[in-house]
Amino acid sequence: MIEDKTPQRTSIGQLGEFGLIDHLTQHFEITQESTVKGIGDDAAILDFKDKKTVVSTDLLIEGVHFDLAYMPLKHLGYKAVVVNVSDICAMNAKPTHITVSVAVSNRFPLEALEELFAGITLAAKEYKVDVIGGDTTSSQKGLILSITAFGEADQEEIVYRNGAKESNLLVVTGDLGAAYMGLQVLEREKQVFQVNPNSQPDLDGYAYLIERQLRPEARKDVRTLLYALEIKPTSMIDISDGLSSEIMHLCKQSGVGCNLYEDKLPLDPQFISVCEEFNIDSTTIALNGGEDYELLFTIAMEDFDKIKGNPNFTIIGHMVQESEGIHLVTRANTKIPLKARGWNALQEE
Ligand code: ADP
Ligand code: MG
Repeated sequence: MIEDKTPQRTSIGQLGEFGLIDHLTQHFEITQESTVKGIGDDAAILDFKDKKTVVSTDLLIEGVHFDLAYMPLKHLGYKAVVVNVSDICAMNAKPTHITVSVAVSNRFPLEALEELFAGITLAAKEYKVDVIGGDTTSSQKGLILSITAFGEADQEEIVYRNGAKESNLLVVTGDLGAAYMGLQVLEREKQVFQVNPNSQPDLDGYAYLIERQLRPEARKDVRTLLYALEIKPTSMIDISDGLSSEIMHLCKQSGVGCNLYEDKLPLDPQFISVCEEFNIDSTTIALNGGEDYELLFTIAMEDFDKIKGNPNFTIIGHMVQESEGIHLVTRANTKIPLKARGWNALQEE
């Protein structure tokens, strides 16, 4: 369905392992002061001086985490970086470095890997992270991509999942559910295409949703925004599996309960209209659709004035005693226990 822009096919075997690594990594630039040694030796060397080092890693498997039928390789490379950078942001740390490991089958020509690395290079530039190493190897089947991200923060800046307190306000950045609906639109177009390969994808009116799915951004800006407002969240997590599931994590680890308000959920108008078109309940998707990569955090009640009316943030609930449980307060003002179904479970329905 996505047009093949790489008619030229150079076998990766032609370059040899070292030639391939040199070729793929040639555009990476070093900009971080903390990078002592990047690509080129047996290991990279970083010097964070008196800062703490924050590390997170993710593994992406073709057919499990992404489908190349509608995910262009350049987008995949970009998104793989974003997903990891988002985890560093969720600790309230500054992302600084990544390593990139790939395993590919010989089904992929060099031009395909160039696309993948173009996306990685673009994201590294955008988020100002140095690519300092990785590994390149072959797989029997499909593409496997693993990225590890590093970041730095002063000890006092770091925000954990377990610091939420009773009566804290629950805040989310951006809007919810759009990435999941973007995936539904792409899946539908893929099916149409399988039935009729001559059909052109009809994606007008879905641009925002598809962008949220194929080209998400990590909220690197939130650390700066909160710093300027003189707010330090008491707990924080990024939304990868879905709002409900992330709320459960914060509550469980912090030993608190939560009241979440349905009428406060930030939803994009395009998201609402496409939910109607698909005849899906928008609240269900906002709660359980994943991959929004927004940040969810709690703040002290005293910080309310600093945040109210700020377009970057929406207060969606507040924390309560653990014994009160975790509830969604609906528009009809009834309280229903929140269930974390996660987006994988949603897909199986
Ligand atoms: P080793 O034999 O120690 O595994 P390699 O020959 O695999 O070393 O890698 C040589 C250098 O290239 C190392 O600095 C390694 O981190 C880097 N490198 C290898 N593959 C990648 C990749 N996919 N992305 C970024 N750097 C890579
Ligand atoms: Mg190696």
